Formats: sequence, C-alpha cells, structure tokens
Amino acid sequence: MSQDKVLIAGGGIGGLTLALTLHQIGVPCTVFESAGELRPLGVGINLQPNAVRELADLGIGADALDRVGIPAREWALVGLNGKDIYTEERGTFAGYKWDQYAVHRGRFHMLLYRTVIERLGEDAVKLGHKVTGYRNNSDGTVTATVELGDGTIEAFDGRLLFGADGIRSALRAQMHPDQPPIHWGGTIMWRGTARARPIRTGSSFIGLGTSRHRVVFYPISHPDADGLADINWIAEQTFDTDHDWAKSGWFRSVPLSEFAHEFHGFVYDWLDLPALISQSEVAFENPMIDRDPIPTWIDGAVALIGDAAHPMYPTGSNGASQAIIDARNIGRIMLDHDVTPATLEAFDDQYCAAIGQVAMRNRGSGPFGLLEMVEARCGGQFEHIDDVIPAEERAAFMLAYQQAAGFAKDRLNRAPRTIPEGATLAKALA
Ligand SMILES: Cc1cc2nc3c(=O)[nH]c(=O)nc-3n(C[C@H](O)[C@H](O)[C@H](O)COP(=O)(O)OP(=O)(O)OC[C@H]3O[C@@H](n4cnc5c(N)ncnc54)[C@H](O)[C@@H]3O)c2cc1C
Repeated sequence: MSQDKVLIAGGGIGGLTLALTLHQIGVPCTVFESAGELRPLGVGINLQPNAVRELADLGIGADALDRVGIPAREWALVGLNGKDIYTEERGTFAGYKWDQYAVHRGRFHMLLYRTVIERLGEDAVKLGHKVTGYRNNSDGTVTATVELGDGTIEAFDGRLLFGADGIRSALRAQMHPDQPPIHWGGTIMWRGTARARPIRTGSSFIGLGTSRHRVVFYPISHPDADGLADINWIAEQTFDTDHDWAKSGWFRSVPLSEFAHEFHGFVYDWLDLPALISQSEVAFENPMIDRDPIPTWIDGAVALIGDAAHPMYPTGSNGASQAIIDARNIGRIMLDHDVTPATLEAFDDQYCAAIGQVAMRNRGSGPFGLLEMVEARCGGQFEHIDDVIPAEERAAFMLAYQQAAGFAKDRLNRAPRTIPEGATLAKALA
C-alpha cells in the first residue's frame, strides 16, 4: 500500500463519512474495519440538520435517506402524567433548510458503506482488519499495526491515521494510556423496534416519563399502505450506581420479560407502551455510557474522531451527527493545511474542548434536563406546564443546548458550505 494514503481505523458512520469526504477532495484513503462482514446493526438514531446538510453535500440526499429513515417533524417531552412539557418542530418543519432524519442505524450504515464501495472501489474498505496500535515515524509518516482475521499481524504506512474506532477505541487507549475507564451514570436502556401506527404528527420524537424512568420513541420509516411504520423505542431506567452494569453487554439481546414490567404503567388514552413493546421480536439491553473528555485528540500524525474522540450519551441525539461533522471539518481544514499533522492540530484546537463540553451536557441529561426541572419544581405534578416553567424559560433552555451542539437554526442556515463545491486539494496525491 502506498504510504501516501490516509489510513482510517473503523468503518462506522464516522470512518465511512471521512472516507467519502477525503475522496471528494481528492485524497486517497483506506478504511480498516475489524468486523469481517458489515451487517445492518443497531436500531434508531437521529441525523440532525447540520449532518443532513453535509450528507447532501456528499451527494447523499433525501431520496437516499428516505429509504433508510423519515424526516422528523416534532420533538416532544411529555411528563409521566401524560401532559406536554415542551414541544418544538424539527428540521424543515421548524424553518431549517435541511430536515432532521430519524433513521435505522444499520440501514444508514449500509447506505454509507455501499456509497464508499461505489465511489472508492471494493478495496477501499478492508474488512476483518483490526487496528491494534500505531507508530509515528521520524519522516512524519505513521504506521498502523493491523491484526487480520486469521491472527496474522501486518503493518500499513500512511500520511495520517484517523481513529474512528468507536467508544472502545484502541488508538485512544494507546494515545491516553491513563484514561479513566468507561463512565456509567446509572442508566440502562432497552431498545427495539415494533411495527405500529405513528402517533401525533406521524413523525414525532417523544420522550415520556421522568428523568430516572422514561421511554423515548419515534418512527424510523415511512408508513406502509396499511399506515404501519417501524417505531424505534428506548425504555430507560436509572439505577443506583452500585448496580452491576457490566453484565449488560453492548447490545445484549434480552427477552422482553426481563424489563417490560418496569414500564407497565405507561398506558394513556393516546399510548399503550406495554402493547407497543410486546410487538417487538427482540430487545437489546445496553448501559448508557460515555467517557470523560480528554485534553487532546491528536498525537503526531494520528487523530481521533467520532465516538473514539468524544463518546456521548444519546440524550442529545447527536453522536452520529457529530461523527459526520468531524469528518467534514477535517476535509475543510485539510483544504488549507494539506495532508499533514497541521490539519490535525487545527482540528484539535478548534473542536476538542468545545465538543468535550457538548458530551458533558449530554451527561447532564442534555435536552432531557427539562424533566429534572419539572421534578424539582413540582414533583412531576402539574395541570399546565406554564405554571411550572414559563414558555420563555423552556425555549431558552433548549436554545442553549442547540447552540452548544452546533445545530442552532439561524446560525446553520446562514453558514456557508463546510467544503466548497468542487474544492479539491491542489496537490492531489497519487
Ligand atoms: C454495531 C453498532 C450498533 C450501534 N447501534 C446504535 C443504536 O442503535 N443507537 C445509537 O444511538 N447508537 C448506536 N451505535 C453507536 C453509533 O453508531 C455511534 O455513536 C455514532 O454513530 C458514532 O459513530 P462512530 O463511527 O464514531 O463509531 P461506531 O459507530 O461505534 O463505529 C466504530 C467502528 O469501528 C469498528 N472498530 C472498532 N474497533 C476497531 C479497531 N480496533 N480496528 C478497526 N475497526 C474497529 C467497529 O466495528 C465499528 O464499525 C452503534 C454502534 C455500533 C458499532
């Protein structure tokens, strides 16, 4: 392999978006993915308008996204008493130039994968290649150590190496050997999808319950001829932190009987949650985890992106979006600084501290912080939410979150393209 290539560890949402971005600006790259086969894994995720804009600039527009998801119309927080706490429109319905998409994570991942193969060729993604470490070389290049499916070890040289290898990143572990272990704040999530009729606007994201005991659900497909869509649901329960969370593997498949009884009371005249959950063939259990922010994402010719750099609680629905934004920001900065560590330094300077703060906001409940305010002020009992938190205060709370996360409407609508149309590196590499 030519050492002029950029190496990417991890073929998830961040790694594949980076591959497409580098290809767009004329920089050759290779993705190393530890899985021997990519399958449509996971359940629902949200792509915020800032990420949807970037996908459109990559030529992945509404036609493609409508095959793996649906534009979200509404975001609503509802108290355990069934009454609305906060609602707002989303995406183009709220005046953004781009939609917010609620998508099936696995189907969206496969869309990115197919697009990479179509544009960069079959060889661009090396499956069954687990990156186990790296070495910065004295000539400024970097060598990645890769373990193949059969256990053999190979070394690959490149100009730069990106660690897009997720929350358990091997590159991050080498870069920060003293980092604290994964952080768990006490919440276990059970996730699944069920075929059901969407409620409210037909594409509403609904968070219902209390800060320690709640459910989130939203459709992730357009309805079929019978009006049924895939409804993504996440049932969440917060335990005391002496609970043994480590027994919950990442996406451990569990029978509904293990947790459904915790949510039997979520029955209203507009929702029968136990009935919805019972339609699911399978549920996945996973702890809500993240990591403490680190002081830098870079080491010489190596940089971390996506969950490897800033794993976040899903409370802000922005983990996947931020991985996409990272990839696009790298492309933009590379146009100025070339395929050099200077690109990585600028990326780190501009985003490491700021995105670390977004992750910490998500740990502090992100937009779900409104539920805590309701509980603190009235114990969750209210007739009209305006009597508890005035509308202006609710709106200000949400705006502060959106600004920090980079999807505040006016700023995004005014922003120029991240990567100007047709821009490529003048010195495109061989
Ligand atoms: C299988 C799976 C299912 C998920 N399902 C959901 C979901 O339902 N809902 C949700 O909110 N989030 C889910 N996530 C997390 C979500 O996709 C990420 O938070 C977000 O998209 C950020 O993406 P990322 O590319 O940084 O990380 P990830 O999406 O985690 O991708 C990392 C990739 O790197 C690969 N990898 C890991 N270690 C190595 C290594 N040493 N060498 C090479 N490759 C490596 C992994 O196999 C993976 O493909 C899931 C992640 C995975 C991997």
